[in-house]
Amino acid sequence: MLKVKDIHTFYGNIEALKGVSLDISEGEIITLIGANGAGKSTTLMSICGITPPRMGEITFMDQPITNMKPDKIVSLGICQVPEGRRIFPYLSVTENLDMGAFLRKDMNHIKTDMEYVFDLFPILEQRRHQPGGTLSGGEQQMLAISRALMARPRLLLLDEPSLGLAPLIVRQIFEIVKKINTENDTTIFLVEQNANLALQVAHRGYVMENGQIVITDAADRLLSNEDIRKAYLGM
Ligand code: ATP
Repeated sequence: MLKVKDIHTFYGNIEALKGVSLDISEGEIITLIGANGAGKSTTLMSICGITPPRMGEITFMDQPITNMKPDKIVSLGICQVPEGRRIFPYLSVTENLDMGAFLRKDMNHIKTDMEYVFDLFPILEQRRHQPGGTLSGGEQQMLAISRALMARPRLLLLDEPSLGLAPLIVRQIFEIVKKINTENDTTIFLVEQNANLALQVAHRGYVMENGQIVITDAADRLLSNEDIRKAYLGM
C-alpha cells in the first residue's frame, strides 16, 4: 500500500532522515519506535507532504506522492493524527468532526460515520456540544483520532497517541486502534515512544535511530529481542 524508498529529509542543512525505507501492506498495523529525536515524526510528516524529502521516493497504491501537496495526499486516503493532537479548541466536538470530513464529497455518509466514531468513543457523544479545548487530554486524543476517521482514511498515521496520558486511557486508546484496524479495514502506521504497548498491538515494527531504520521484524520477535528489550523496553 505504502512504499517509502531511501528518503532523505532536511531541516535547512540538518539531515533528519538519512535514507529511510519502509513498506506497509493493506490491513497491517505497523509501528515505528525509537528514542527522542530519532526522526519518527519527520518520517510521518514526509509521508503526508508537510516536510517533503529532498531525495528518495514515496508511493501510495502505486502512485508517486513524494512531492504532492498535503491536501491532495489526504484526498488520496492518507490522514495523520499529529503529535499533541491539535484539535480546534474553540469549536465544539461535532464541529471538530465536521472539519475532518471537509474534503469529502459523499455528504450522505458523514452522519453514519459520526455515529460510528461516537460508538467507538461514547464519551465524545456526551460531550458533543462542548468546545474541544475544554476536554481532558485523553478525550482530546479520542477527538483527534475521530476527526481523522471522519476523512475515511485508508491509511491512518498516528503520532505518539500515548503522549502525556494516564496508563489506563492509553490502554483504552490502543484497544480502539486495534478495533479501527480490524472492524473498519483501516491500515495503521503508529509512531510511538511507548514501544512496549505499540509492539503489543502492531503486526510488524521498525526501529529508528539517528535518522535511519536499524532493525525491522515481526512485532512479537521485536518484543522478545534482547537488545530491543534493553534499549527500548526498559527490561
Ligand atoms: P520525538 O519523539 O521527540 O518527537 P522524533 O523521533 O519524532 O522525536 P523528529 O521530531 O522527527 O524525531 O526529529 C528528528 C531530528 O530533526 C531531530 O534531531 C530534531 O531536532 C530535528 N528537527 C525536528 N524538527 C525540526 C525543525 N522544525 N527544525 C530543525 N530541526 C528539526
